[in-house]
This record gives sequence, C-alpha cells and structure tokens, in this order.
Amino acid sequence: MVDGFYTPLGRPFVKEEQILPHKDRRNIVVEYKGGGYDGCFWEWNHFMYDAKGAFHVLLATGYKGITDKETAENMLNSTYDRARFKVTEWDISDWWTMLDFVDGMTASFAKIVDKAMRKQGIAKLWGTCRYCGGVKQVRYMSQENWTGDGHGIAYFAKDLYCSEHCFEKEYEDDHEN
Ligand SMILES: [Zn+2]
Repeated sequence: MVDGFYTPLGRPFVKEEQILPHKDRRNIVVEYKGGGYDGCFWEWNHFMYDAKGAFHVLLATGYKGITDKETAENMLNSTYDRARFKVTEWDISDWWTMLDFVDGMTASFAKIVDKAMRKQGIAKLWGTCRYCGGVKQVRYMSQENWTGDGHGIAYFAKDLYCSEHCFEKEYEDDHEN
C-alpha cells in the first residue's frame, strides 16, 4: 500500500490527496465544541469516520454532544455551524496529524477518545511524552497536571507522559540544587 506505512492497528493507511466530498470521509476524527452544562459550559467532543467511512460516536457530553450521524453531517455541511462549533477534521491516517491531534488535546480527553476508539475496534491513538518527547500508545501513558472546574468531566489532567522514569527525572532536574 502507501509507502509501507501501517496504522497502530496493523492496517495500511490510505492516504487521501485532497479534501473529499462528505460521503468519502475515511479515518477522520471530527472535533467540535460539544458539552453543554448549565447552559453555558462546553467541552471538546468527537465523532469519527473509520477506515471504511462508517460513523462512530467517540465522546458526546451534555446537550450539545452529537450522538447520531444525521446531526453530525448537518453540522459538517453548514459553514455557520462549522464556525460556531469550531469544527476541526483530523486525518488520523497521517501519523503526524494524529500526534498533533493528541498533543493539542487535554490528556484525560485523549484517554477517553482512545478508549472509545479501541472499544469500537476502529483506531488507536499515540501520544508524545511531555518530558522526553518519546511516542507511546496513549493507553500506556500516564497523566499529570490534574485540575478541576466543577463542570462536565469534572477532574482532568492536562499532560501525558510515558513513564515514571520520565516523571522522576524531571522532578530531580528541577530540584538539583
Ligand atoms: Zn517520556
């Protein structure tokens, strides 16, 4: 297949060369402002078109979380809604795009999205360690910088790191003197 590059699932990536018509979305994760608590709070939600173009809900929270394909496609087809919900489409068949996607996400959300993908057997996410820059499957990474805001997924971590070794090394470097 394409340059012998394989997905974490072991299937070859199919790299698309252009932005495709809606019905041809493959390996695309759609990120948008979902959630909706107390009428004002939002959080990132996700759905996905798998390698065959089938629709999957990954994370849908609050009253703005999308749980069906029709609503999803109405949003994707509307320029107004795309802007309003800050829609981003991530082609995770591209390794670097996938790493950027995970990197830009709150660690706890990366964990939830990865788990939903694995549970549905459609993909696996890899992340970058904030300390050593190493790349590892998100499921085997740890989380830190916990914070809470009392809404939605109430208690979440900002960063992923690959092992206790990295965590301890950083701590020692910080406390050398
Ligand atoms: Zn590391």
